[in-house]
Amino acid sequence: MTSAQNPQAKTLSVVVPAYNEEDVLETFHARLAAVLTDLSLDSEVLYVNDGSEDRTLEILARLRGEDARVGVVNLSRNFGKEIALTAGIDHAVGDLVVLIDADLQDPPELIPDLVSLLQEQEADVVYAQRIEREGETWFKKATASAFYRLMRHVGEVPIPPNTGDFRVMNRRAVEGVKTLRERHRFMKGILTWVGFKQVALPYRRAPREAGETKWNYWKLWNFALDGVTSATISPLRISSYVGAVIAGLAFIYGIWVIIRTLAFGDPVQGWPSLAVIVLFLGGMQLLVLGLIGEYLGRLFNESKFRPLYLLDQVAPSSLGTAAAESAKRPTLASPPERPLSVG
Ligand code: UDP
Ligand code: MG
Repeated sequence: MTSAQNPQAKTLSVVVPAYNEEDVLETFHARLAAVLTDLSLDSEVLYVNDGSEDRTLEILARLRGEDARVGVVNLSRNFGKEIALTAGIDHAVGDLVVLIDADLQDPPELIPDLVSLLQEQEADVVYAQRIEREGETWFKKATASAFYRLMRHVGEVPIPPNTGDFRVMNRRAVEGVKTLRERHRFMKGILTWVGFKQVALPYRRAPREAGETKWNYWKLWNFALDGVTSATISPLRISSYVGAVIAGLAFIYGIWVIIRTLAFGDPVQGWPSLAVIVLFLGGMQLLVLGLIGEYLGRLFNESKFRPLYLLDQVAPSSLGTAAAESAKRPTLASPPERPLSVG
């Protein structure tokens, strides 16, 4: 059961995080502006300057002077792409919101296709899915695919492979994303978590136009680690199982040492007692660590303060409708307003 989404969508916000993008911004904006002019929606372009050290802010200010559709959100320092995107989403007012990189790897020309697929399919999210990774090394491709496979196994919600942040979302998906305020923001996980109807649009991703990628392998590794650790507590879970197994083996071996000593005596003076003490203490420590890990995992999940669920739609029963009706009627707590009558 899905209701017709987006027929009333009239405005579009394009959110563009930019960190040291002076080399491409003008080309990017020219291409984006041409696309938006042809679109039947009123649009705004929200650039988020993520603490750039180059002339990015200067260029953005000039673009805003030349094009009334441009808005600039200037962060106080470099917070990273995930936070920059969040800041942009928070400030976007459009019925539809597009997320796109400034470096022209996500072609702005794809935006009309994203939007029309969203409307055609009555979807809530249409994400662009790369067919091919041009200009990327086999190592990057292999590590990326391994990452998605891992995430499919450990994650709570499977993240679609070869998908970046390039997408269009409708208002209710955006509002859903806005309810997830965790500090360690793994955007792909967050964007997928909200659910609703998400549709893929395959496209060819171009190599970076100009400037340099801000990602190196160390950053990518940390990004993957963030992805795994923020999507799931399974690393913690695995370590508590490993702890429990080792502790079990230690106890069994300890008992074996005791039995052997009782049966065959104690040829190396003091070794059996020492071994048993060490094995017992080591095993106990691992078990207790696992226990602490379990609580830590729960605490971690609670600390994200995520909503428990987002609603697509509720169709109440007649009882439910009646209850909702009577909830509107005045109750003891809020009596009907009428003039006081004495006597
Ligand atoms: N970006 C950002 N803050 C950062 C790093 C990147 O806002 O700390 C922006 C950057 O300007 C670009 C987008 O995020 O618009 C993607 O960055 P990049 O091209 O370096 O990443 P890649 O395409 O290699 O994943
Ligand atoms: Mg890029």
